[in-house]
Amino acid sequence: MPWPPLRPIPDEVLAGSNAAATRCWIVNLDVGVTGLAPEPGSSPVAVSVRRHRADAADRAGGNDTSTPDKGPLVDRYGRHHTDLRVSVTDRCNLRCAYCIPDDDMSFLPHASLLSFDEIVRVASVAHDLGVTSLRLTGGEPLMRRGVVRLVRRLADLGFDDLSMTTNATMLAPVAVELASAGLTRVNISCDSLRADRFAAIRRRGDLATVLAAMDAAEAAGLGPVKVNVVLRRGVNEDEVLDFAAFARSTGRPVRFIEFMPLDAAGRWSRSSLVTGAEVLDRIGQSWPLVPVGDSGAAPAERFRFADGVGEIGVISSISQPFCGTCNRLRLTADGSVVNCLFSNDENSLREIVRGAGTDDEIARLLRRAVWAKYPGHAINEPSFLRPHRSMSMIGG
Ligand code: SAM
Repeated sequence: MPWPPLRPIPDEVLAGSNAAATRCWIVNLDVGVTGLAPEPGSSPVAVSVRRHRADAADRAGGNDTSTPDKGPLVDRYGRHHTDLRVSVTDRCNLRCAYCIPDDDMSFLPHASLLSFDEIVRVASVAHDLGVTSLRLTGGEPLMRRGVVRLVRRLADLGFDDLSMTTNATMLAPVAVELASAGLTRVNISCDSLRADRFAAIRRRGDLATVLAAMDAAEAAGLGPVKVNVVLRRGVNEDEVLDFAAFARSTGRPVRFIEFMPLDAAGRWSRSSLVTGAEVLDRIGQSWPLVPVGDSGAAPAERFRFADGVGEIGVISSISQPFCGTCNRLRLTADGSVVNCLFSNDENSLREIVRGAGTDDEIARLLRRAVWAKYPGHAINEPSFLRPHRSMSMIGG
């Protein structure tokens, strides 16, 4: 799509805004910045020419001599990091429209993926630093050959919670093996309960296989199976009540995830967002909901049905960011530590684990990455830039 000529945002508009620190132009991308008058027929956006939130003061944590060298993994805002998401591959057998690009995607060469030895070593250091929960993800984690062996080795490290996020297309045949290897539970992605729509959204795979895998996972002891639904306006928003009914009839907590600007095709727009508040409102009109205690650092705000039958959750990453309680850290398949899904700053561990690096060096890098974490993802700020890696390349 050709863009209209860029023109500077007037100083009087920038004055007092947090965009003032960057140079901004109005273009016709739809990410909506209030206060900037759009061209007729277009929506304004402030585009930063500098790296996202990467001014000297913000980045200081990266090399700051004040990075703690002992104690738990804590950042400059006091958030303790106890949750590590490990992507074991960037490959996926599905092509979900909101995640993977339309045309053929190029994947990482196998040689650049961390080996199981390397993953286990990083996980072990993280465990020693107080990480209690590890989730395997991808890409599609079950695409990585031998992943059951990896689970067994990770389970030996003694995490309180060892889970996996999967599209479940390959789960049923290995569910029992995964459970006996020490996996505690699975989150399964399923964006529609209508076979034709499921096929259209995911572009490969079929609904019946995924539903059967949910049964298999529960039978294997990998429950409670949480079901992840990414809602998009005009695509599957009309299934909110169907999913609520599904949560009630199956006892599987359904978690409605707000669509995030992490799609490889770059099609995200605010107009495609279905907010958590809207979901709660719609469900509440049919079945009253009651909040389930304090969700702590968990991204999902949980609710049970007032009649005691089942539970749902909303993950309102965009409309109600929960960065203040974020305790998550990510390891990409090629060995970069990412402290926020929306960060462009990465610290590669691969050279350390492949070279003669010591566990102390791994620990130092993890500490530095956590210490450098920003207070929030800043999606709603004018200076926000999409990260260069999409969700499947980071590990959702
Ligand atoms: N392949 C696995 C799966 O499908 O669950 C694990 C990886 S997938 C990237 C992890 C989760 O991220 C899935 O629940 C998926 O629906 C979600 N996801 C992917 N792209 C997203 C986006 N742009 N916004 C919100 N969630 C997204």
